[in-house]
Amino acid sequence: MKVDVHPTTQYTLECVLCQKENDETKTSTYCTFCADVLSVRYHKTSPAMQVPLKAYQPDPLKHHLSTLTQLPRLSKTYDIDLWAKLEFEHPSGCFKDRGSAIEVQKALELGRDAICLASTGNMAASVAMYASYYNLPCFVFVPEQTSEAKLAQATIYNATILRVQGDFAKCEELCKEFALSGNVYLAGDYVFREEGQKDFSYELLAQGVTDFDAIAIPVGCGTNFAAIYKGYAEMKAAGLVDRIPQLLAIQPEASSPVVEGIFKREKVVKELVQTIATSVAVANPFDFHKVLHAIDETDGKAYTVTENDILDSLREMAVTEGHFTEPACALPLAAMKDHSHEWQGKKVLLVLTGSGLKDTRVVAKHSLTPPVLEPTIEAIQEYVGSGFVEMQKRAWGKARSVVLADVALSDTRDKVFNSYVEAIQQRGKTLQKHEIEALQSIVLQEKEGVPSHLEVLDYAVTMRKEGLVEASVKLRLHGVEVESETKGVGPVDAVLAAIRTHSDTHCKILVKNHEVDILSPQTDSLVVVTLTLEHEGRQIRPKGASSDTLEAVIHAFEKGYSVLAEQLADQKL
Ligand SMILES: *Cc1c(COP(=O)(O)O)cnc(C)c1O
Ligand SMILES: [Zn+2]
Repeated sequence: MKVDVHPTTQYTLECVLCQKENDETKTSTYCTFCADVLSVRYHKTSPAMQVPLKAYQPDPLKHHLSTLTQLPRLSKTYDIDLWAKLEFEHPSGCFKDRGSAIEVQKALELGRDAICLASTGNMAASVAMYASYYNLPCFVFVPEQTSEAKLAQATIYNATILRVQGDFAKCEELCKEFALSGNVYLAGDYVFREEGQKDFSYELLAQGVTDFDAIAIPVGCGTNFAAIYKGYAEMKAAGLVDRIPQLLAIQPEASSPVVEGIFKREKVVKELVQTIATSVAVANPFDFHKVLHAIDETDGKAYTVTENDILDSLREMAVTEGHFTEPACALPLAAMKDHSHEWQGKKVLLVLTGSGLKDTRVVAKHSLTPPVLEPTIEAIQEYVGSGFVEMQKRAWGKARSVVLADVALSDTRDKVFNSYVEAIQQRGKTLQKHEIEALQSIVLQEKEGVPSHLEVLDYAVTMRKEGLVEASVKLRLHGVEVESETKGVGPVDAVLAAIRTHSDTHCKILVKNHEVDILSPQTDSLVVVTLTLEHEGRQIRPKGASSDTLEAVIHAFEKGYSVLAEQLADQKL
């Protein structure tokens, strides 16, 4: 199974708006007359896929076509004949390799010394990979905020990474200027990329299935959408297929200039767009006119989906069919779910553009972090039965408030939780949702039924010279009130030392470490402290929470002490 490719010089670079012919040695990006985008028009039709190269080398890094598969379980659930093309199987984990392989060959043919591009991540990773294979120096302009995985790919492939203060638009502007300053090929969502990416449609032909009613495509710049259309249009012109499926352009509601533009029938440019589907967060979709043309020619449709829909579909695809993708690829399924009545009984192909491993932060951010457990089977079993696990599953893709409302804390835990909240409110602070959630997670991790062996009734710290601090504490220790005073190098150190002058005589505890986590640096309402305590080689990690760091440390120590002292008592029995 392979795609026949025919390299040719019999083509014209034509502007999609003013239709004037452009010279590829002068531009491969924008029309030199009207600044709109260009398209390759071949002079003849061909049964093989034509590429605008003098000589063509089959992609040296790609060893099989991306899988075309049915989605039997989702098809049954939604009563649509759903198929997927697993574009994340490409060597860099994203379909952009189709275009990069051609762009880099074109840069070499034009005798360029280097290649440069601006990217939010996937294209950088992909172009860097082919440039390094062909020994072409590669310069990548990325915004400060770029996914670590995508940056890692560009880095390992030897690209020069230029991390720029500002957003993608700033990177684009600088990159264009950089390209002009030397004999550098400007890569990106431009005309030769489309010639590589149209390969998608030719692959369907090679795989023997082209008769879809529709193809659902996540859209950013619109280049991939335009390329899939162009592939079909050229196959149809050559008599290889008789029909082009309806093409569906899907965008996140929060970033939808293309969909909006389709309804208005004119290009829309946004100031700023933000969505968890970062790969399609494009404010200025420069292939808009090509997308509109493809929509018109195929009786296509444009849909938007919400951020929650994206999260839901992302997980549904992973859980039911096993495909873990990045959030952008959840758009097609989300749109099918929203419009299932419209597509019932139809054969629809979902384009799964990129791998889930490209953006694992999304998963981390939208699920609750599992707590670190004591290494005992009792602790494991208590956690499994604690309700936290269920809360974790429910939390996915839902507004946090919805989740929090139905967490069932036991009565004792509920009391503990309320005492935390009251203490914080007494300090005039208001908790935000993620702070409430953090508190609940702390309460859920607490051991139930441990009597309080240590209670700090009062404490005071006084600053002395050179960072030395004097602390005095009043405790109830195993039911007896005691007081003490000690010096330390900081308030935390001093207070713990003061407590331990007494508590160590009952149960000697080493404080190995303390971590402070401030959940909202702006409002400072909740500080979570995790202590690492050790008693006779046994470690535990109690947590304390308060709007005051020192108080959180004390809470954590009180709890940790009580647990360890209780165990010591059990041993003695
Ligand atoms: C680039 C990209 C898209 C969007 O493609 P456009 O050609 O910009 O419309 C969608 N999904 C992933 C994973 C991408 O990397
Ligand atoms: Zn033009």
